[in-house]
Amino acid sequence: MSETIFDKIISREIPADIIYDDDLVLAFNDINAQAPIHFLVIPKKPIATINDISDDDRMVVGHMMLVAAKLAKKMGFAEEGYRTVMNCNEFGGQSVYHIHLHVLAGKLMGWPPY
Ligand code: C5P
Repeated sequence: MSETIFDKIISREIPADIIYDDDLVLAFNDINAQAPIHFLVIPKKPIATINDISDDDRMVVGHMMLVAAKLAKKMGFAEEGYRTVMNCNEFGGQSVYHIHLHVLAGKLMGWPPY
C-alpha cells in the first residue's frame, strides 16, 4: 500500500492539530472543517478502506469508535449529539486512502447526507 498524507501526520513529517494520541490511534482536527467541531480518528496501522479491514483489525477499529465517544464526552458535546462518518472509495467520497472516522459536532446535522 502506498503511503498517504496520514502516514506523514502519524510520523510527524507534516504538522496536524493533534488532539489525542495513543498506541493504536491518533485524532486531529480536520484542516477543512465541515462543522464547528470536526476531527478525524485514524488508526496508526495503515488500512486503505473499510473493505480492507481484517479480522485482526477488530481491536483497532473498535478502539477508533471508543476514542471518538470518549473525546465527545471530554469535549462536552456527547449529550448534545454528533455524527461519525467513514467514507469508502469513490462513491463514498473517500479522498485519503487510510481509513479515518470523521467526528462532526456543534450544529444540527441534516439527513440524508447529500
Ligand atoms: O473521507 P475523506 O477521505 O474525503 O476525508 C479526508 C479528510 O482528510 C478531509 O476532510 C480533509 O479535509 C482531511 N485532511 C486533513 N489533513 C490533511 C489532509 C486531509 O485533515 N493534511
